[in-house]
Amino acid sequence: MIYDLIIVGSGPAGAAGAIYAARKQLKTLMITTDFGGQSSVSSDIQNWIGTPSISGTNLSENLKKHILAYADNIVNIKEGEKVVFVKKTTPSEVEESREIFSTTTDKKNVYQSKAVLIAAGSSRRKITVPGADRLERKGITYCASCDGPIFAGQDVVVIGGGNAGFETAAQLLAYCNSVTILHHGDVFKADPIIVEKVLKNPKMKALFNAETVEIYGETFVEGMKYKDKKTNEIHDLKVKGIFVEIGQIPNTVFVKGLVDLDEYNRIKIDPWTQKTSTPGIWAAGDCTNILYHQNNIATGDAVKALENIYLYLYARTT
Ligand SMILES: Cc1cc2nc3c(=O)[nH]c(=O)nc-3n(C[C@H](O)[C@H](O)[C@H](O)COP(=O)(O)OP(=O)(O)OC[C@H]3O[C@@H](n4cnc5c(N)ncnc54)[C@H](O)[C@@H]3O)c2cc1C
Repeated sequence: MIYDLIIVGSGPAGAAGAIYAARKQLKTLMITTDFGGQSSVSSDIQNWIGTPSISGTNLSENLKKHILAYADNIVNIKEGEKVVFVKKTTPSEVEESREIFSTTTDKKNVYQSKAVLIAAGSSRRKITVPGADRLERKGITYCASCDGPIFAGQDVVVIGGGNAGFETAAQLLAYCNSVTILHHGDVFKADPIIVEKVLKNPKMKALFNAETVEIYGETFVEGMKYKDKKTNEIHDLKVKGIFVEIGQIPNTVFVKGLVDLDEYNRIKIDPWTQKTSTPGIWAAGDCTNILYHQNNIATGDAVKALENIYLYLYARTT
């Protein structure tokens, strides 16, 4: 069968796309490795419009409930499948006059559709200094809400001075003896309101111009070394836990060569319509080259994409 639409991903962008697809009666397949997106690990989301405070887990559950409430036989979900490849199928391979896309997953399933919405978001950037690989999950972690309590009463470091770094630090202050935030620049990138709130805590320390050079420990993290970029001096911090928040990598490898990407491998989109450089493929959310990456923006952009996809499929206006 040929679906009207395949949606890759089920974070806020994918979920919004699926809800609108169901309401517009577009025969849709959503393929996603896991449900709910990145912020499902967050303990408290305070800017999801209409809900003053919600945990990431509850937000994910609500997104799924909302899709299923309208899905009927219109939207099918394949959870636990990862898209590895999307390609254009030549018209002679199928009896259709317009573009058809084949989406292949890690389970070797191939699905076909007239349109594709890429809403695959982004993943954490890994730290690559000596010791990092060996000690991952042995004191080095990428999720404060998952692993924070393990470090109760300990001294820990957060690498990264953006919003995610400060949110992580805020969570860790509830359990840890001390939290040191390491930032490579001389000004924090995080919003001033969270910086001020977190740094007020007497258990909190902040280091600027600090470049991590090594993480060490026999079987578990025992400490780390960083270089002061102003003096070139190497300093040693004895800590048991290292929480890494150094940015995101867009999940776009499966469309490399099919749609235009920018220098950070984000999908280039037309912000009016969310169209990519390839007719028949749209993208929304954190995998795109928009300036701001937030839950509400991801949903709004996917809604915009669906309006345009509907016109493409049924009014042939694009
Ligand atoms: C810790 C943390 C806290 C945050 N807190 C907030 C906040 O308080 N407020 C806010 O507005 N934003 C917050 N954000 C940012 C917000 O989570 C993102 O902007 C938002 O999740 C982007 O949504 P998305 O749907 O584009 O992508 P994502 O949420 O990243 O979802 C992508 C989906 O695609 C799936 N996927 C990826 N690759 C594939 C593939 N190859 N095949 C199939 N499926 C795939 C993933 O499993 C996932 O379901 C936070 C982010 C983090 C990491």
